[in-house]
Amino acid sequence: MRASALFLTLAYAASMVMARPTIRSEPVEAVSKNTEDILPTFSQCINPGVFALTFDDGPDKYSWGLAESLHDQGIKATFFINGLNSVNVLEDSVTTEAGEKTYLDVIKQYYDQGHEIASHTYQHKNLVGLTVEEIEYQMNTQSDIIYKAIGKRVKLMRPPEGVTDKVSQKVLKDLGYTNVLWDIDTLDWEKKGLAFEQKNVKAVLDKDIANQTMGHISLEHDIHEDTVKTLVPWLTNYVKQKGLTFVTVSECLGVDAYEGGSDNSTITLDDTTGTATIDLSGLN
Ligand SMILES: [Zn+2]
Repeated sequence: MRASALFLTLAYAASMVMARPTIRSEPVEAVSKNTEDILPTFSQCINPGVFALTFDDGPDKYSWGLAESLHDQGIKATFFINGLNSVNVLEDSVTTEAGEKTYLDVIKQYYDQGHEIASHTYQHKNLVGLTVEEIEYQMNTQSDIIYKAIGKRVKLMRPPEGVTDKVSQKVLKDLGYTNVLWDIDTLDWEKKGLAFEQKNVKAVLDKDIANQTMGHISLEHDIHEDTVKTLVPWLTNYVKQKGLTFVTVSECLGVDAYEGGSDNSTITLDDTTGTATIDLSGLN
């Protein structure tokens, strides 16, 4: 039952992969002609009119306040997090507006506020050239940390620097992950200032054709104070001005965010017939 449903999901995802360019990643088509072997990879949403705000490399000291502020504005974001990068999620704590919190609390707070949680590996190691065991360690350790915080296993991931090779694509696919890249790169990590970041966003968003251009996935890093305090307020405003609706990545792609079903899943599995129904109506 589950296998046929999974196949339909993957075949569907594979058709999306063929239709869209990936960014800084080997062409997925080159890995295998067999759709069941292809790591589902996306750099844009599958429908127009939506915008997925994503943050990499956290959590860090600004993350709690950022999640809270977005929530207060009715904006859902997706956080691609590490366990041991800017902070040690299992050991460190942070002073927030709501008092002293552990970073597991911060991750739980994302979840409780309707944001989505995804993996960016445990230690932010570039996966290219790593062995199967090393990649499994990076993914499984991070999965355990997120499970400890929210009691769910994530299915969405983004490789550090957006790069994978054939080995990592196969391991990630076997572990059940969907590879989420981006089509708007703010390049906030270069710290060249708001004007530079605005130019990078506008270069893509201003070319949109209403009701035709597929929704966007933007890349930011919430470990930078300027990103949280300057870029995000401008960007969220600009996206609203364009009339786009903020969605989580699972909504943007119509896939599960978590094992056992995403809170936002548009895929319905029918165990009696072994079929999967993909409902895209809510994204139109
Ligand atoms: Zn990163």
